[in-house]
Amino acid sequence: MKKYVIILIGAISINGTRSGSEDSSLNVLYLCAPFLLGDYMYDNKYMKMALKEAKKAYLIGEIPVGAVIVYKDKVIAKAYNEKEKYNDVTRHAEITAIRKASKKLNNWRLNDCIMYITLFPCPMCASAINQARISKVVYGTVPNYDDYEKTVDILNNNYYGNPVDIAESLLNEECRQLIQDFFKKMR
Ligand SMILES: [Zn+2]
Repeated sequence: MKKYVIILIGAISINGTRSGSEDSSLNVLYLCAPFLLGDYMYDNKYMKMALKEAKKAYLIGEIPVGAVIVYKDKVIAKAYNEKEKYNDVTRHAEITAIRKASKKLNNWRLNDCIMYITLFPCPMCASAINQARISKVVYGTVPNYDDYEKTVDILNNNYYGNPVDIAESLLNEECRQLIQDFFKKMR
């Protein structure tokens, strides 16, 4: 997204220099802003919601991970990690969010849905995301683990499900801080 802002500023300055007209620069801004800043605004809005979910997990002593699923610009599922609470390894935020979204749409195929997650998914959740045919994943921070590349492969796999677009959130710093605070508190 940062690159979009740079491109936008670049486009405005190039346009301004060439035409020497403030009006044309503003035209570029007006034309590009909703398109370019749209992702930015949604990223912030929905990742903030996912962070709110993650904080709920934090407060009950769970690894703070939150997930939000958006369909046609509407939030259809919110969830947080509850593995300890239910003694259930499948209670990761992503899987619970998928269950809720599937129930809401009455369909296990979640095409055109975007998932916002505060932490890059584990292989189990990546497989569920892929098989549920979620179109895009926007993640907060990446945990320190060796399976990152393998997990990206699972998300991109087209054997069980659909390849998933992957994007890093602008709020990665906030997401990373929350996880760090949790592990600091646990020590
Ligand atoms: Zn997981």
